[in-house]
Amino acid sequence: MIFILSGPSGSGKTTLRDRVLKDGLIKKKFVKSVSLCTRPRRTGEKEGRDYFFVTGEKFTDLKRSGKILEWTKYLGYYYGTKKALVEAALKKGKNILLCLDFRGAKRVRKLYPKETLTIFVIPPSLQELRKRIQGRSFKTKNEEVKRRVRLVEAELRQAAYYDYSLRNINLKQAVKRLKGIILQRI
Ligand code: ADP
Ligand code: 5GP
Repeated sequence: MIFILSGPSGSGKTTLRDRVLKDGLIKKKFVKSVSLCTRPRRTGEKEGRDYFFVTGEKFTDLKRSGKILEWTKYLGYYYGTKKALVEAALKKGKNILLCLDFRGAKRVRKLYPKETLTIFVIPPSLQELRKRIQGRSFKTKNEEVKRRVRLVEAELRQAAYYDYSLRNINLKQAVKRLKGIILQRI
């Protein structure tokens, strides 16, 4: 199965993914996917753990040579999933959990309609979301926070196209619900 987490910036996709993949049973049956991205690394982010940080030229090369399964452009930067990673996981009979935007979710669902399950993460409020984006890295400039928040309304409208929506108010409860959704399917 391919599980996809989408949701506005700061809604908690990365945190939920990392927490859920720590669960013993889930960990054994999953391969972690690390996306490629061209935005600068945030404080606290690690190369190869959070993203593979690449230049725009490298990303274009990989895209042209067919190594990218799906990709998107977000606030001027490119993000994409390595094709080999997903194919290898499915071949080995493993599950995979991807954090993608709406465009990526649509593309993967089209490529793997039977294997894909989509989950939309909903933040408690705009105010809390702003706080989370700001709190994640002190280096995130106000202008970037504003640009991310500006996209939220349109992003939330996409929730209707997902198999599940998951409110992330209390982290422990959200992790429990996500684990429940995953364990039901694997
Ligand atoms: P996303 O990957 O969706 O952009 P993150 O997982 O990076 O979001 O979460 C944004 C920030 O909010 C992080 O600093 C994270 O620790 C925090 N966070 C996530 N979920 C919660 C929650 N339920 N309560 C409080 N803070 C949270
Ligand atoms: P961020 O800069 O906050 O890490 O990510 C910005 C947006 O890009 C988020 O909506 C995130 O889910 C999305 N994203 C991250 N990696 C990928 C990817 O590989 N493909 C697609 N389609 N979206 C991604």
